[in-house]
Amino acid sequence: MRIAMIGTGYVGLVSGACFADFGHQVCCVDKNASKIDGLNNGVMPIWEPGLEALVTSNAQRGRLTFTTDLASAVKEAEAVFIAVGTPARRGDGHADLTFVFEAVRELARFIQPGAVVVTKSTVPVGTGDRIEAILREEGVEGVSVASNPEFLREGAAIADFKHPDRIVVGAEDDHAQEVLREIYRPLFLNRAPILITGRRTAELTKYAANAFLAVKISFINEMANLCEAVDADVQDIARGIGLDNRIGPKFLHAGPGYGGSCFPKDTLALLQTADEAGVDQRIVRTTVEVNDHRKLEMAERVAEAAGGDLKGKRVAILGLAFKPNTDDMREAPSIPIVKAMIDRGAEVAAFDPVAREQAEKIFEGIEFADDAYAAATGADLVVIVTEWDEFRALDLDRMAGALRGKVLVDLRNVYDRTEAEEAGLTYFGVGRGRLHRHASA
Ligand code: NAD
Repeated sequence: MRIAMIGTGYVGLVSGACFADFGHQVCCVDKNASKIDGLNNGVMPIWEPGLEALVTSNAQRGRLTFTTDLASAVKEAEAVFIAVGTPARRGDGHADLTFVFEAVRELARFIQPGAVVVTKSTVPVGTGDRIEAILREEGVEGVSVASNPEFLREGAAIADFKHPDRIVVGAEDDHAQEVLREIYRPLFLNRAPILITGRRTAELTKYAANAFLAVKISFINEMANLCEAVDADVQDIARGIGLDNRIGPKFLHAGPGYGGSCFPKDTLALLQTADEAGVDQRIVRTTVEVNDHRKLEMAERVAEAAGGDLKGKRVAILGLAFKPNTDDMREAPSIPIVKAMIDRGAEVAAFDPVAREQAEKIFEGIEFADDAYAAATGADLVVIVTEWDEFRALDLDRMAGALRGKVLVDLRNVYDRTEAEEAGLTYFGVGRGRLHRHASA
C-alpha cells in the first residue's frame, strides 16, 4: 500500500516507520522543515528505543521517505493518515483540532478518489463527521474517512505498534475497512485482534481507554494515602488485587500521579465531550481532580521529608521525563513538583538520562547535573521522580556519601526501606506504611 503520514511526531514517525517495515511504501510529511531535514540525514527528532535503526533501515530500502511537500505524498497515497497533535485547548481543555482541520484542508487539494483518510490522532467523537464535511466543502468526492486510534506507549512504542493488544478501526464503509485490513495484514499473521466498529465508537474508544487507565492510577494513589494512614503496604495491595484477572496488575503503581502527552489532555477532552452531550462523567472528573492534587501533595511530602521546610534546602531530583525511556516532558509530574519546591525556596539540582534538552526549555533556575551522584553531591535530600532503569541500581552507599542530608524520597517505590536504611538513608516511599513513624525510626 502507498501511505502518506501527515505529522511526523511520536505517533506519526513510529507508525510510519513500522508500516514501512511491514513492506508498505510510506511518505512521512511534516511542516516542521528542520525535523524533516534531520530525518533525511538520519537524525531522530525524538528519543525512542529502537527508532533510529528502524527508520534508517527502511529509509535505506527506499520504503520510507520524509518530506515537507504534502502534495507529493498525498497524490500518490491510497491511505492518508493524520497523526498531528491534538493538544488541550487553552482555557476549556477541549481537544484543539486546529492542526487536524488544517491538515484536512491541505490534503483535500491533492487526494485521489478511492483513497481513505484515516485519523490516527486522538480526536473527539464526531471528528470524522466534521472531516467528511470539510472534504465535501472542498469539493472532494469518492474519499472515505476512517478512525484508527493509536494505543502505543512512548518508551515501548515500536514493540507496542508491532504487537498491539488490539487494533481498533472505525469505518463506515467496506472500502475503508478493506484498506485498513490490508495495511495491518502483517499483524493479523501475529494474531493481533482487530476490532471493527462504527467511526464514532472508535473515536470514543481511545478516550475511554485512556480515562480508564487514569482512573486506575488515581485509584491506587488514593489507596496509597490510606495505606500511609493505617500502616499498610500499597505495593502488596496492588499485587493482591492485580493477580485477580478481572483487575490486572498494570497501572497499579502508586506514585506522583500521571502526566505525559495523553492522559491529562484526553481526560479533559472527554469531560468536555461529556459536558456537551449533557452526560456527567463523575468518575473521570474526580480522577482529574485527584491527579492534579496529587502533584502538590508530592511537593508537600518532600517538604515534610526535609523536616517541614524547603527554604534553603538543596534537593537532588532524579528523573524529569514524564516516564522512563522517553525525552517527552509534556505534562511531566516533575514540572509542578519541581516548581512547587522552587516556590518553597529550595535549590534544585536535577539529572535525567535523556530529557535534559527538553527540560532546559521548561525549568528556569535549576542546575542540571551529569549523573545521579553529581546531582546528589551536597544535597539535603534526593527525590526519585522518574523510575529510569539506571535509578534502580544506584549505589546507595555512594549516594549517602555524596548527600549532605541523608534522606531518600522515592516517589516510585524503586527501593526497599531496609536497603536504603542499611546505607544510612532515611527512606520515604509512597503508600508503604506510616510516613512519620518510619521517618523517625
Ligand atoms: P507530536 O506533537 O509529537 O507530533 C505532531 C507533528 O505533527 C508535529 O511534528 C507537527 O509539526 C506536525 N504537524 C502539525 N500540523 C501539521 C500539518 N498540517 N502538516 C504536517 N505536519 C503537521 O504529537 P504526537 O505525540 O505524535 O501525537 C499525535 C497524536 O497522536 C495526538 O492526537 C495524540 O493524542 C495521539 N497519540 C499520542 C500518543 C503518544 O504517546 N505520544 C499515543 C497515542 C496517541
